[in-house]
Amino acid sequence: MAGRDYPRSYAELRAWFDEDWTCRDYLDWLRWPDGFVCPGCGSVRGWRLADARWKCGGCQRKVSATAGTIFDKTRTPLTVWFATAWRLVGDKVGLSATQLQREMELGSYPTAWAMLHRYRTVMVRPGRDRLSGDVEVDECFLGGPEPGVRGRGALGKVLLAGAVERTTGGQPRRARLAVIDDASADSLGDFLRDNVEPGSRILTDGWGSYPAATREGYTHKPTSVAASGLQAHEVLPAVHLVFSLVKRWVMGTLQGSISPEHVQSYCDEWVFRFNRRRSRSRGLLFHTLLRHAVAADPVTYKSLRKAGRWRPPPPPPDGERPWPSSLDVGRPRLPWRT
Ligand SMILES: [Zn+2]
Repeated sequence: MAGRDYPRSYAELRAWFDEDWTCRDYLDWLRWPDGFVCPGCGSVRGWRLADARWKCGGCQRKVSATAGTIFDKTRTPLTVWFATAWRLVGDKVGLSATQLQREMELGSYPTAWAMLHRYRTVMVRPGRDRLSGDVEVDECFLGGPEPGVRGRGALGKVLLAGAVERTTGGQPRRARLAVIDDASADSLGDFLRDNVEPGSRILTDGWGSYPAATREGYTHKPTSVAASGLQAHEVLPAVHLVFSLVKRWVMGTLQGSISPEHVQSYCDEWVFRFNRRRSRSRGLLFHTLLRHAVAADPVTYKSLRKAGRWRPPPPPPDGERPWPSSLDVGRPRLPWRT
């Protein structure tokens, strides 16, 4: 709920998360919504220590909410990380590392650049649903000819595959983007299997690789642009819209200054925002991003249990006490705990 689970505005974000300990508590709450689970042994018994870490009742290890996540061992204050997350997903176009460095008054450009890249690594949720229904698929060169951009540069050699669900009216719904080596049937087939549910109808132009790429598991509807008498963006309106928006973002917000080897992570960032563009609240995107960020090893607990190595936890060790409930009443500053 807005105003309790996540801030409603940037002002509220700054008010809630003005000190590192409140940020840390929020991450703790996101990581263990149903109570502590040890990432090492899977034990569900733990005790809060005075420094906000947990002591595991199973393996005795001390665990912090940031252990094993993108925030692990960071020297940048969590307050800055939180404000950065908001700026990254709370705005339609995000921001560049240069802008971030200036806004947060960070000491160096590499610090800003590395923070943004760490967030990008958690923008793709493992096991996310694949696209389905009518899906337009096409490829383009990222640095392809665009008005006002001279030459192709290094990005001109980066080939992107795009898949976009479309409504009957030709409007885009969800999108996926991936850097591919070439436009062969193998590369495009791999892209489809990773991103589109079998049984979907794949809409493409007349490119010769698509019949083979879609043969297993998909229905294929090719439309030859030349024979149709239409423009390419009329044959495949949704995926062409996505390509042009991505190019505009790369050349505009990012000023074209991204290196080819990082294109995939920038695409992940763009897709994260695009697929949530109708979200009712920007704060919810902030909440989603941070939830992804602390779900560093969500399978550990289950896989350990499955492997039969899980044991009932022993009683609390001497000298360690659970967080007394009397302390909880004195924490009105943590709305997510209410
Ligand atoms: Zn443990």
